[in-house]
Amino acid sequence: MLEHLSVLGSTGSIGVSTLDVVARHPQRYKIFALTANTSVDALFKQCLQHQPEYAVLKDEIAANQLRSRLNTEGLMVKVLSGQQGLIFVAEQPQVTCVMAAIVGAAGLEPTLAAVRQGKKVLLANKESLVMAGGLFMGAVASAGAQLLPIDSEHNAIFQCMPSDYKNLAQSGIRKILLTGSGGPFRTTSMSALADVTPEQACAHPNWSMGRKISVDSATMMNKGLEFIEACWMFDVKPSDINVVVHPQSIIHSMVEYIDGSVLAQLGNPDMRTPIAHAMAWPERIESGVASLDFMAISKFDFEAPDYQRFPCLKLAMDVATDGNRLAATLNAANEVAVEAFLQEQIAFPSIARVIDKVLQKADVIEPSSLEAVQLADAQARRLAQAIVKSF
Ligand code: NAD
Ligand code: MG
Repeated sequence: MLEHLSVLGSTGSIGVSTLDVVARHPQRYKIFALTANTSVDALFKQCLQHQPEYAVLKDEIAANQLRSRLNTEGLMVKVLSGQQGLIFVAEQPQVTCVMAAIVGAAGLEPTLAAVRQGKKVLLANKESLVMAGGLFMGAVASAGAQLLPIDSEHNAIFQCMPSDYKNLAQSGIRKILLTGSGGPFRTTSMSALADVTPEQACAHPNWSMGRKISVDSATMMNKGLEFIEACWMFDVKPSDINVVVHPQSIIHSMVEYIDGSVLAQLGNPDMRTPIAHAMAWPERIESGVASLDFMAISKFDFEAPDYQRFPCLKLAMDVATDGNRLAATLNAANEVAVEAFLQEQIAFPSIARVIDKVLQKADVIEPSSLEAVQLADAQARRLAQAIVKSF
């Protein structure tokens, strides 16, 4: 069957890897829509190559620029703008599969729209599940959507679970082992952390990613968000998950069964593997990823997470243990703090301080509707911006 794919966030790191896999299988995938925030140039080039029905940009100014360039080339791509445009291309009946690869809270509404239409949703945008996990999983169940994990850890866990997985007990699973590399500052002296630059934070030792998730990896907030993501996606309790630091990023996560068996998924750190896996599931397709060279790797290391070095991980795990009532607050505070660090307004260790203060000050707004989640998000952003200014 030909899949009609909307790629939300097609100009980003995950979006580009997705289009690389798509281009390897033209008989299998047809691009219905491509979307970007403001990168007119990159989206124009992608339109030339993939000839989608629709392209979406953040606002009408950018959309007009793209329209005139496409006109000059004689390309019949319809160009939309804003959240409405994103929701439109996520919902269209011809679309069989949506890659949710927008970064941050901006991805929530279009991703949820795809879920509510019962699409096959390939979830890279972990922030949407963190913010609104209950709503999101409720919508997956009621619309009969197929949710497939793109995050390499969750994709690994999914691959290590039985295909009829419903919950841990029925599948004889004892626990989930969520691995993380520890990022670029795992061994940096604590005193030097105050002076690290955005460029150093974005230079991940194993993965090439967008700037926001790269900083999240450096603080290990990424692992914290993934911890919450795993609780929702696999319907497990925080106490069912152990975080294991594995600096090589070759084991992408593991599942331990009650008989003592531990299943792991391994591979080179290249997102085209989980992307191709989710795109073709339950079949397998070529992704362009090279074979793993065990002799070159030669050894695997493991260590426990250091919560003093990585307070963001602890903050997120505490939010999960508290039932995720403050998960949207945590996520929004993190987005503001990371952006402030990237703009060199605050030092790296202040990211955790901002989030901690916001969590202490924010009202608990039960995430029972999209409006409530958006209210919690907006309140946390206001608080975080004020705290950033006070530093
Ligand atoms: P990126 O910054 O490289 O790309 C983000 C994409 O979203 C771009 O196309 C950008 O134009 C678009 N975008 C940004 N802000 C937007 C907005 N306000 N409205 C509409 N579109 C917007 O990010 P990335 O590294 O590709 O990550 C995307 C998502 O995938 C994130 O949620 C991230 O956590 C997750 N993820 C990424 C990786 C990775 O290896 N890069 C791995 C696992 C999960
Ligand atoms: Mg990950």
